[in-house]
Amino acid sequence: MHEVSLASGILKIVEAAALREQFARVSLLRIEAGALAGVEERALRFALEVMARDTCLQDALIEIETPPGEAWCSECSATVNIMARGDPCGQCGNYQLRPTGGTELRVIEMMVDD
Ligand SMILES: [Zn+2]
Repeated sequence: MHEVSLASGILKIVEAAALREQFARVSLLRIEAGALAGVEERALRFALEVMARDTCLQDALIEIETPPGEAWCSECSATVNIMARGDPCGQCGNYQLRPTGGTELRVIEMMVDD
């Protein structure tokens, strides 16, 4: 389950921010996990909830957004939406697509209590 190491990476980011910005508790954490990031949302949420115990994330509301994947099709010379890596172009069926969006896992917002 690589979601566990992803969750641990997110927790490290949050704890580093807590040290730097001197806050003790996070009330809301918004994460973006693109459709092409290879992350299973439920597994990530579960891992975060387990690891959040006794950290500043303990009582945080965790929101995970999953923007659709975007890829560049060399046949159509267009950007098309895809739901997973390896999907064909919806317009021409070409499989030579280069992912251009929806590949990231990142923290997009954190609301904190002092
Ligand atoms: Zn195409």
